[in-house]
Amino acid sequence: MKKHNYSAGPCILPQEVFEQLAKAILNFNGMDLSILEISHRSAAFVSVMEEARALVLELLGLEGKGYQALFLHGGASLEFLMVPYNLMRENGKATYLDTGTWASGAIKEAKHFGETIVVASSKADNYNHIPKNYEVPTDANYFHCTSNNTIFGTQMKSFPELNIPIVCDMSSDIFSRSLDFSKFDLIYAGAQKNMGPAGVTLVVVKEEILGKTGKHIPSMLDYQQHIAKESMYNTPPVFPIYASLLTLQWLKKQGGIKAIEKINEAKANLLYTEIDRNPLFRGTAVTEDRSIMNATFVLNDEGHAETFDKLWKAAGISGLTGHRSVGGYRASMYNALPLESVQVLVGVMKELENKI
Ligand code: PLP
Repeated sequence: MKKHNYSAGPCILPQEVFEQLAKAILNFNGMDLSILEISHRSAAFVSVMEEARALVLELLGLEGKGYQALFLHGGASLEFLMVPYNLMRENGKATYLDTGTWASGAIKEAKHFGETIVVASSKADNYNHIPKNYEVPTDANYFHCTSNNTIFGTQMKSFPELNIPIVCDMSSDIFSRSLDFSKFDLIYAGAQKNMGPAGVTLVVVKEEILGKTGKHIPSMLDYQQHIAKESMYNTPPVFPIYASLLTLQWLKKQGGIKAIEKINEAKANLLYTEIDRNPLFRGTAVTEDRSIMNATFVLNDEGHAETFDKLWKAAGISGLTGHRSVGGYRASMYNALPLESVQVLVGVMKELENKI
């Protein structure tokens, strides 16, 4: 039996994608060659890249709206510095919303490039909520936010309306819920939650915001160079890109983002209802900001941890242990986690209650 995988990453993919990948490692497209050994300049791989880039824009509803999708190296962490490199102007300034560990990682890098204003932060409350009612200076070069805080289990439910470019780190909730993605000028996401294995990062950028810094940008860090080379400036990570394409095709077959959002909401509702009902547990994020991707919760009495841990492990659950900065438990419910896995977890939580 395959485990119910609640791990925060990397990476949870649909079973059928793992099966297609296993075949492609041995014999890609009937070529009697592995996906790992064909040239990235071959017609077969170029068509993988083209389809993946197009499908990203199609699924996000951004086709024909001046956006480019890129598959880059370096992880979301490299985007923490590529964003200011490409957007912060000479003597310019940037604005950031500090909602967690990853947001503060992005802020740390931006500070090397120029004035970096943190418009609001929930750090003092161990990032248990998303700050509201903050002002964003209108003369900043951009506003940066993190849509889903993987570690703390909070998620932005709305985004500010601004007249400056909005940049969003969507690493842990991309393709999981419908948003008006055209409100964002630059979206980035490490592949390894809802898309594919670690090793590739998706960047979706509105071309018109680029080329305005007046500064030299090293080629590998310059979005315009990557666009000019159709996301093949250097050898692309072929395997994670192919895996991403298969996952995106799977998502399209499910009915796209709207369809998966319904399932994701059903999974999250089921789990949060039990966390709130069961007297043994409590959630750590404030209710209105709870993430539908990563649910963080603790036992009211740590003394029950040993029994609970034994029960969920025996039920075939893995990856439920919380991040060390929050403690307790974190149930990551990415797109590929089936509803049945949440039913199993909720069953185990009820079983613990019955035992005690
Ligand atoms: N941003 C968010 C929201 C994340 O969850 C993560 C990793 O989990 C990162 C950034 C860092 O991503 P990477 O490891 O690809 O650099």
